[in-house]
Amino acid sequence: MNKKNLIIFLILLSVTFFSGCTGFTGNFSEKSGNIESIEDSGSGICGNDSEVLYQVSTIDALLQGVYDGVLPVAELETHGDFGIGTFDGLEGEMLALNGSYYQIKTDGIAYPVSGEMTTPFATVTYFEADESFRLEEPANLTELEAFLDLNLPSENLFYAVRVDGDFSYIKARSVPRQEKPYPKLADAVSTQSVFEFENISGTLVGFRTPEYVKGVNVPGYHLHFITEDRSAGGHVLDLEMESGDAALDITSAFFMELPASGDFYNVELGQDLQADMEKVEK
Ligand SMILES: [Zn+2]
Repeated sequence: MNKKNLIIFLILLSVTFFSGCTGFTGNFSEKSGNIESIEDSGSGICGNDSEVLYQVSTIDALLQGVYDGVLPVAELETHGDFGIGTFDGLEGEMLALNGSYYQIKTDGIAYPVSGEMTTPFATVTYFEADESFRLEEPANLTELEAFLDLNLPSENLFYAVRVDGDFSYIKARSVPRQEKPYPKLADAVSTQSVFEFENISGTLVGFRTPEYVKGVNVPGYHLHFITEDRSAGGHVLDLEMESGDAALDITSAFFMELPASGDFYNVELGQDLQADMEKVEK
């Protein structure tokens, strides 16, 4: 399936406070003929790639079992060098860091990804740190998220989050490839593999999205992990961090592509899936 099979939605979130944004130049229109050109608003909206959070499909579609890959990784990686997601058939956890894409399978190992592999759901950006912090105190996942929250300029923006740290403990998971008819994600994760790492260095890669995007992405933090030698990792369920360096990239533009065929057309979206989300994320 290629780009022609995707409907493209574009939401731009205006921010006025941060520097380096000299007005939107309409450069989205160069990337796809399906997008209407956007005039320079002069309102301080950033249009460069490092400020664009690019997403394929919605979290609710994934929660409802829409797992067919719709975008090849070869295209996804033109939208970012950093991010997370999954693969066709929900086969493993995706993590992109410094331009390298990995597939963490149910053995916990991070495999290289080929450009022909496809994704049903992914979020990527070109990572450029806007804020960075040194974390000296040990912190569990809740405490780490609370610390990061304290340092956000606003809870209403989207952030790419990177934490390079030393961890005394990390609990991570990956999900096996699903067969049709696809189960809901809350049921699919009942077959997940869970890995525990102890005394390991590595990188947390993910995003923090605002509460108001419920249904579109995971409100709050969604983090994946990869070891320092980039050999293993998973979707983070729990952790104990000793110390580390955190960086936030404010992504003030949000660009979402929706599958224009297949299960996405018929799935009933817009339901309250909070209970499912909790089963999947914890
Ligand atoms: Zn995940």
